[in-house]
Amino acid sequence: MTSLIETKGLTAFYGDFQAIFGVDMRLDAGETIAVIGANGAGKSTLMRSIAGVIANLPEMVLHRGQAIGAIGAPDVVRRGIALVPEGRKLFPSLSVEENLQIGGYGRRAGGPWTLETIYDLFPILKERRRYPATALSGGQQQMVAIGRALMSNPEVLLCDELSLGLAPVVIRDIYAAFSKIRASGAAIIIVEQDIAQALKVADRVYCMMEGRITLTGRPSELEPAAIHSAYFGAD
Ligand code: ATP
Repeated sequence: MTSLIETKGLTAFYGDFQAIFGVDMRLDAGETIAVIGANGAGKSTLMRSIAGVIANLPEMVLHRGQAIGAIGAPDVVRRGIALVPEGRKLFPSLSVEENLQIGGYGRRAGGPWTLETIYDLFPILKERRRYPATALSGGQQQMVAIGRALMSNPEVLLCDELSLGLAPVVIRDIYAAFSKIRASGAAIIIVEQDIAQALKVADRVYCMMEGRITLTGRPSELEPAAIHSAYFGAD
């Protein structure tokens, strides 16, 4: 079976600095996978490479077996791959609803997501739809960022550090929405620094350290000691 997303020997550079080194990973239809790792491990770079924000050699990123590593972010979105970026990156001068609408430009045909279904998922956003996005709490802004990505009708949703800086109760609400997003048919990659959270929501986990995958497996197969050394390095 062809994977939905596959990276093959993926490398990525910022100028002369190499951030990731030969990453092989895959995401199958209907799966949720988590990418864990410490600050600077290369998780965001991996997400940005899949999303087309960082250009790579074409064959380093495959979508349904087709090379997309060099097609650029707008075409990646059109294929149904959407990124919720680290730090949310909302448009501060626009309202909640305008931020959501921007996510719908170039959207994939088909799929269930509209302003209405996103408001059903996050009812508070409907109440606040005329507010400037930056007038919302951090958790609500994260909902806008997720909603903006969903507006493109993704079959693959890439979520970079959703829980960063949010209170546990807010994180719980955001993750609660994920079961509905999964039920819509989307496959999901989440980047998480919180290992327990990652193990709870993911079908499979990849651990990264210093730009490389150091461990992969199903949560039930991974020993805490192995996760510890894959995450932090050997003592
Ligand atoms: P974090 O949790 O801190 O976001 P991460 O695992 O997502 O960490 P990346 O952001 O992918 O890691 O960073 C990987 C490496 O690339 C780090 O050494 C980082 O300093 C470097 N890096 C990231 N973005 C840039 C950039 N725009 N320019 C130069 N180096 C960068």
